[in-house]
Amino acid sequence: MKAGIVGLPNVGKSTLFNCLSNAKAQSANFPFCTIEPNIGVVNVPDPRLEKLEELVVPERVVPATVEIVDIAGLVKGASKGEGLGNQFLANIRETDAILHVLRCFNDDNIIHVDGSINPIRDKETIDIELQLKDLETVEKRLERVKKLAKTGNKEAQAEFDVLDRIKNSLETGVSVRALEFTEKELEFVKPLQFITIKPVMYVCNVDEEAAVSGNEYVELVKEAVKDENAEVLVLAVGTEADINELESYEERKEFLSDVGLDEPGAAKLIRSAYKLLNLQTYFTAGVKEVRAWTINIGDTAPQAAGVIHTDFEKGFIRAEVIKYDTYVELGSEAKVKEAGKLSVEGKEYIVQDGDMMNFRFNV
Ligand code: GDP
Repeated sequence: MKAGIVGLPNVGKSTLFNCLSNAKAQSANFPFCTIEPNIGVVNVPDPRLEKLEELVVPERVVPATVEIVDIAGLVKGASKGEGLGNQFLANIRETDAILHVLRCFNDDNIIHVDGSINPIRDKETIDIELQLKDLETVEKRLERVKKLAKTGNKEAQAEFDVLDRIKNSLETGVSVRALEFTEKELEFVKPLQFITIKPVMYVCNVDEEAAVSGNEYVELVKEAVKDENAEVLVLAVGTEADINELESYEERKEFLSDVGLDEPGAAKLIRSAYKLLNLQTYFTAGVKEVRAWTINIGDTAPQAAGVIHTDFEKGFIRAEVIKYDTYVELGSEAKVKEAGKLSVEGKEYIVQDGDMMNFRFNV
C-alpha cells in the first residue's frame, strides 16, 4: 500500500519525505528538484510493539510499514503537460492515498511559485489539475458508453448516468471522492481509477512556533475542507528535519519538548496515513520474533493468515486469538490460556486491530 505526497513546488514535500524515510530525496530551494518519484518504506510507530518486546523478549521486532512516494512536478497546467507534465499523474495513479502538503509557513527566502502564501489557492491549483485529468478519463469513457446506451442497452445507460454525474461534478470543481455511489455504480466507477477518488489528508506545513496549535493559515485550510471529511494535520516539516539531524535520542527528545511535542509529528502522520489507507495491525509474538502485520480493516482470519504466507490462507484450519490488552494485563500466553481468555476462531472471524494471532493450518 502506497501513499503519495503531492503539493506545489517548494511547499516542503521532499523535506517531509526525507523526514519520513531513510531514502534521501534531494531538497533545495528550487522548483522541480525532485524529478524522479522517490519511494520510501516507512516503519509505522506503534507503542504496543515496545510493550510486547518488553514482555516477550524476542530476538527481533518487526514493525508494520507503509510505502511513501514523493511525487514531484505538480504545477498549474500539469494536466496539459506543463512542468513535468503527465509523468507525475501516472505516479499518483499508482498510489492508494494522497498526502497533500500545503505551505502554511512564511519565509521570504523560499520562493513561492505563485508569489505569495495562500494555501487555499494552492490546494485549488492542485485539485483542478487532478480534476482535469479525471475529466479526461470520464469523457473518454462516456463517449464509448454513450453510443451503446443509445442502442437501448440498459447496462450502458446505467453506466452513462453515473459517469455523466461524475463529469458534471468535476466540471464544477467537485472531486469524485465527495460523491456517493451505490454498490452497482461502484462497479462502473472503480475500473476507471480516478485520481480524485483516492482518500486524502491535508498536511499543513507550519513554522516552529505553530507546530502545536497551528496558525491562521491552518484555520483557513480547516474551514475550506470541512465538507471533505478529510483529516488536516499540522506539521512543522522544517523543524522535524532539524530534529532528524540530531545524533542522539536524548537530544531529539529535548528539542521536541522545547517545541512542545511529545513525539515527532512525522510519527503521527505515518499513523494517520496508515488509517487513511484503511489498514490495521495484528501481531504475532514468539521468542524468535514479535511482529506487526498489516491487513485491511474487515479482513477475515484466513485473509490475515495469507499475509504471512499464501499456504496459511489455503490450508487455514483455525486461529487462536488473544486480545492485546488481555495479553498485557496477564503478561504471558501461558497465563492467558490459564485464565481461559484465549479464543479459538474459524474462517469467518473478522480480525480486529491489535489481535495477537496464532494460525493452525494444513500444508
Ligand atoms: P518541495 O519542492 O515541495 O519538495 O519542497 P522542499 O522540501 O524541497 O522545500 C523547499 C524549501 O523550503 C527548502 O529550502 C526547505 O528547506 C524549505 N522548507 C521546507 N519546509 C519548511 C518549513 O517548514 N519552514 C521553512 N522556513 N522552510 C521550509
